[in-house]
Amino acid sequence: MSEQGFSTRAIHAGYEPDPQTGAVNVPIYASSTFAQDGVGGMRNGFEYARTGNPTRRPLEANLAAIEGGAFGRAFSSGMAATDCLLRSVLRPGDHLIIPNDAYGGTFRLIDKVFTEWGIEHTPAPMGDVDAVRAAIRPNTKLVWVETPTNPLLNIGDIEALSAVAHDAGAKIVVDNTFASPYLQQPLALGADVALHSTTKYLGGHSDVVGGALVTDDEELDTKFAFLQNGAGAVPGPFDAYLTMRGIKTLALRMERHSDNAEKIVDLLSGHAAVERVIYPGLASHPGHAVASRQMRRFGGMVSVRLKGGKQAALDFCSRTTIFTLAESLGGVESLIEHPGAMTHASTAGSELEVPEDLVRLSVGIEDAADLLADVEQALG
Ligand SMILES: *Cc1c(COP(=O)(O)O)cnc(C)c1O
Repeated sequence: MSEQGFSTRAIHAGYEPDPQTGAVNVPIYASSTFAQDGVGGMRNGFEYARTGNPTRRPLEANLAAIEGGAFGRAFSSGMAATDCLLRSVLRPGDHLIIPNDAYGGTFRLIDKVFTEWGIEHTPAPMGDVDAVRAAIRPNTKLVWVETPTNPLLNIGDIEALSAVAHDAGAKIVVDNTFASPYLQQPLALGADVALHSTTKYLGGHSDVVGGALVTDDEELDTKFAFLQNGAGAVPGPFDAYLTMRGIKTLALRMERHSDNAEKIVDLLSGHAAVERVIYPGLASHPGHAVASRQMRRFGGMVSVRLKGGKQAALDFCSRTTIFTLAESLGGVESLIEHPGAMTHASTAGSELEVPEDLVRLSVGIEDAADLLADVEQALG
């Protein structure tokens, strides 16, 4: 499978034209239950749509193929995938290490829910392998990595962090949402699990919420499958269809996102209103060398700190016209947001609090000249 190129897998893996009708695309099987040929006589393994359904199954095979893994599981959201992973790997009394700038929802789930169930966590900077090693405890069972992180775009060295986790007998998961499997392949670099919010680049059109877990570890996948069915956070067939439809163009979109982001970075870097541009493609970025090694390109996410503090950041967010003020990222359309007041509000007052002069851009695939003009006028 992995001898084929990325886009060939993205477009074909997991599905052959339907033998009966010739349908080139996966049909949306709106059926909650499936007829049996005698008691226990399932056709093609389907009995009830929470357990498995013929639209979701090709998506799961496709997700595995594009991440270069053996097993894929699709969920109703990225957080549902996160919840499944945490409950599959951790038990009361266990400890995990999380990025000190983790996605706000990941931090909230771990801090507010899993702490109550007796699971301890330590935030650590993923860009500092020694700091992560120092945070390991005898009961550390999981190292949670995001790279690039959200919203500060810090880079973690997946290969080195995998070695740290495995030396300690812990598992390592990489939230690969920001890079997408086109730009970065965590399993090939040693990670046990690649996790996605498919809501973002994989879906790619801001029209579906979903999540995914991909692994080569059959024992882990069996646990994922058990909880996927047992807890039931599954995507419906229409969601699975939309996600597959998005994945087909992932490579094209990621190239254009990266092209446009590089141009925005150039503009911001020379602008008088800007304090600092944060983008792993910049030679000045502390993670640039590692990112160059483990990523194909640097993606569509750009963060920027403005001179003039919080008010300047809020003003910038409210003046753009093509960049839409909204949470989320990874869609074809450009979005802008203020992490401190929006996506990362739940980190206020914690170690994970983000700077208030920070603005995050999800650079879309519109015409670069229009995006540049929009940013220029909004900065004033
Ligand atoms: C959005 C996001 C999530 C959560 O995914 P949902 O689909 O919104 O539940 C997790 N991690 C990262 C990095 C994200 O951007």
